[in-house]
Amino acid sequence: MLTSIAGRSVIVTGASKGIGKGIATIFCRHGGKVFVVSRNLGEAEACAGELRRNGGAATGYAADVTSIDDMQRLAEAAASAHGGIDILCANAGIFPQARIEDLSPDDWDRVVATNLKGAFLAVKACLPYLKKSDQGRIVLTSSITGPITGFPGWSHYGATKAGQLGFMRTASIELAKYGVTINAILPGNILTEGLAALGPEYQRSMAASTPLGRLGTVEDVGYAALFLASKEAGYITGQTIVVDGGQILPESLDALAQA
Ligand code: NAP
Repeated sequence: MLTSIAGRSVIVTGASKGIGKGIATIFCRHGGKVFVVSRNLGEAEACAGELRRNGGAATGYAADVTSIDDMQRLAEAAASAHGGIDILCANAGIFPQARIEDLSPDDWDRVVATNLKGAFLAVKACLPYLKKSDQGRIVLTSSITGPITGFPGWSHYGATKAGQLGFMRTASIELAKYGVTINAILPGNILTEGLAALGPEYQRSMAASTPLGRLGTVEDVGYAALFLASKEAGYITGQTIVVDGGQILPESLDALAQA
C-alpha cells in the first residue's frame, strides 16, 4: 500500500465533479490535504464539504485555469494554507463536440485555452512551491483521444490532449533538477457528468467497444494519479499511463467480437 501521500498538500483543478472529484476523493482517502478547484465556488465547496464529511481534509476554491492571475492566487492560497504545494493534478478540461466544418476559431481557442494553456498556467504558478517540496509531483489529465485515437468532432480537443504530452516531455527535463516529476494519465471513457451529457447511446457504444466491458470510474483514474504522485513513483517522469479498460487495443471490431 502506498502511504506517502499523508499530510501532503495537493491541488486538483477541475475537481468539483467528474474525474477531478474522483482524484480528490482518492487523495483525501489517503490523507492528502486537498484544494478542490473549479470556476464555480459553490460547486467546489459542495465537493469539499462532501469530502470533509467522509473524513478528508478538503478546501473548496474558485479559480479559472485560463487565467494566470487566478492560478497564482490559487498557488499562494494553497501554499499558505498547507505550508507549500507537493502535488498538482492539472485536470480541468472541456470537450465540446464540433466537426471541423462547424468548429469556429473562437471555440478552438476556448478549448486550447482551457485544456492546454490552462495546464501550462497551473504548472507555471505552482512551480515555485513544487520546487521546494521533497516530493514535487505534477499529474496531467490528458486523454486517449488525440495522443492515440481520434473521434469525429474532437479535432480541437485531441490537439490539446496530444499537446499536453509535448509540453510534458520538455517539462520533465526542465523540472528534473528540482526533483519534480510530471506524468500524464490518458483516460478512456470514464463515467462523469461531462460524459453523461453525451447521452446513453454514446455510453452504451463506448462500453461495448471496451474489452473490460464497462466505462471507467473516476476512482480508476484517481488511483493512477495517486500512484504517480507517490514517493514510490519518484523515478518515473515524462511518462503516460493509459486507463481505458483496454479500449485502444482491439485492432478491429472483429477482434472484439471473436473474444
Ligand atoms: P466534467 O465532468 O465536465 O468536469 C470538469 C471539471 O472542470 C469541473 O469541475 C469544471 O468546473 C472544471 N472546469 C472546467 N473549465 C474550467 C476552468 N476554465 N477553470 C477551472 N475549472 C474548470 O469533466 P470530466 O469528464 O471529469 O473531465 C475532466 C478531465 O478529464 C478533462 O481534462 C477531460 O478532458 C479529461 N478526460 C475525460 C474523459 C471522460 O471520459 N470523462 C476521458 C478522457 C479525458 P466549472 O465548470 O465550475 O469550472
